[in-house]
Amino acid sequence: MPAAYKCIVCGRSIPEGQGVILRRGGLTLTFHSGRCAYKFFKLLFERVSLECLETPSKELIENLKTRLKSRERAKKI
Ligand SMILES: [Zn+2]
Repeated sequence: MPAAYKCIVCGRSIPEGQGVILRRGGLTLTFHSGRCAYKFFKLLFERVSLECLETPSKELIENLKTRLKSRERAKKI
C-alpha cells in the first residue's frame, strides 16, 4: 500500500490513517509519531521570536489550567 505522507522529521513513510497530521492554512505538518512531532515543535519553540510565542503560550497555559480545574471539580461531584 503506498504511503499517504512522509514524516518531515525522519523521512519515514506514514500509512493512511496513522501518524500525526496537522493542517492550518497552506501549511501541512506530517509526523510519523508523537516523538517526531515533539522534536519539530521543540525546534520551532526555540526558533520562533519570543514576541510571537509568549502571549499565545501563556493564554494556552491558562486555558489548560482552567480545563484541569473543571475536570478536578467534576471528579469530586
Ligand atoms: Zn518521524
